[in-house]
Amino acid sequence: MTALQTRRAPCLETTALDELDGSFGGELLLPTSPGYDTARRIWNGAIDRHPACIARCAGVADVVAAVRFARERDLLVAVRSGGHGVAGHAVCDGGLVIDLSPMKGIRVDPQARTARAQAGVLWGELDRETQLHGLATVGGIVTHTGIAGLTLGGGIGWLMRKYGATVDNLLSVDLVTADGDLVTASAGENPELFWGVRGGGGNFGIVTSFEYRLHPVGPTVLAGPIFHRLEDAPAVLRFYREFAAEAPDELTTIFELGVAQQLPALPAEVHGKPIMMIGACYTGPPQDGVDVVRALKAFGRPIVDLLEPKPYLALQSMFDPFVPHGWHRYWKSVELPPLTDEAIDTLVEHSSAQTSPTSYCIVFQLGGALARVDEGETAFSQRSAAYNVNINAVWTEDDPGPEQHIAWARDFFDAIQSHAGGRVYVNFLGDEGQDRVRAAYGERNYERLARLKRVHDESNFFRVNQNIQPG
Ligand SMILES: Cc1cc2nc3c(=O)[nH]c(=O)nc-3n(C[C@H](O)[C@H](O)[C@H](O)COP(=O)(O)OP(=O)(O)OC[C@H]3O[C@@H](n4cnc5c(N)ncnc54)[C@H](O)[C@@H]3O)c2cc1C
Repeated sequence: MTALQTRRAPCLETTALDELDGSFGGELLLPTSPGYDTARRIWNGAIDRHPACIARCAGVADVVAAVRFARERDLLVAVRSGGHGVAGHAVCDGGLVIDLSPMKGIRVDPQARTARAQAGVLWGELDRETQLHGLATVGGIVTHTGIAGLTLGGGIGWLMRKYGATVDNLLSVDLVTADGDLVTASAGENPELFWGVRGGGGNFGIVTSFEYRLHPVGPTVLAGPIFHRLEDAPAVLRFYREFAAEAPDELTTIFELGVAQQLPALPAEVHGKPIMMIGACYTGPPQDGVDVVRALKAFGRPIVDLLEPKPYLALQSMFDPFVPHGWHRYWKSVELPPLTDEAIDTLVEHSSAQTSPTSYCIVFQLGGALARVDEGETAFSQRSAAYNVNINAVWTEDDPGPEQHIAWARDFFDAIQSHAGGRVYVNFLGDEGQDRVRAAYGERNYERLARLKRVHDESNFFRVNQNIQPG
């Protein structure tokens, strides 16, 4: 339990739950209920918490009822949507989990190029519906990540350099406040609250639905990974940084350093060996991207080149098999300016020293449309960094030495920090304390968020999160 969670957590009398039960359309799960153990589990298997009750909401009225119930009893509350948050804030010990994962409604308006989706929707589900019309919004790179947590933290993905962050494409939200009121926030309605939810996470209320702007995307895109041996990475990355710096907005790249999995697409002799991957997505007609990626495809001696036309939905599920639910994770993240020789060498050296074959380091190329929004425009403020580095220690439950994997991630982080500007993306944070939350927003945005928190949640009812303290 974190300090925030232990501040006060009165016991939940199970008899009191009868009262909530009477006004609840979804399911209330107690530790003795069938399904409780499945429902308390999240994507990060290292998180093992036991809430007193899990309120699986069927709709907005359930969210309102659960908030009012918890508020009246001063209960500790955690909010869960997709359950991907690595810090495990979607679940608490001994309190009430308000679980929106059953809320799956999606409505696409192809004429207006907008979509409204309820908070339990996952990116793969939203992409599937929008792609029916050849449309998409900026989402994450794994289909089973929730739209809710990702959007509320900012949102980066393959389309970001063309269309900005997910929050730059957010038109409105419906939100249940700490008082249990349902409000709408948009540019025209509660605009300051709308500023705050575009990056400020779950600090201001529970969002029940999101309205997004959509763009023509695919259905076929020129996209996919090119694999190189890790020993070639110093040269490949020196070429890549120049290539990426000149790339048009249509092109977003992501590279990863790790160990080759047993993919049929990879020759057997590299399975289990250190490897690097540069992935790219050209957001535009595939034929227009051919010249753009030519030099990237030609450089060095790739093991396999899968950067070719493919369905956008295939690109979006490309990473899914490597990030299954239940494995144990510890993440450290940092933002980098343009890559120097020293930063490249640090990335390669520490990746070569990883202690678990399932660990990896993934680096997102930022910039483009994402960087042309002023830092104060949304609470999400990762506008000027060139790269986002995520060092992911990963192991399975039966691993006898998880400490060494955590130590690897920490050492890596300490080494790369000296090349970084001190900022971090809030959605990649673990439970790392207030200084790191401040580092996600910068001083000016944090102070504005803290004032907003005081207006909407002075008692810090929503505190099991990357917490903004009421200012
Ligand atoms: C495999 C993987 C891939 C990822 N890829 C990307 C990526 O490509 N781009 C990117 O930007 N991020 C990515 N992330 C990070 C992701 O944005 C965060 O983990 C995000 O919190 C996930 O949202 P969720 O709804 O699934 O998680 P949850 O764990 O359910 O939610 C995380 C937190 O968000 C808050 N929250 C959730 N739902 C609500 C709600 N309805 N109302 C108010 N607050 C709420 C709560 O504080 C909650 O604890 C990835 C994460 C993983 C694990």
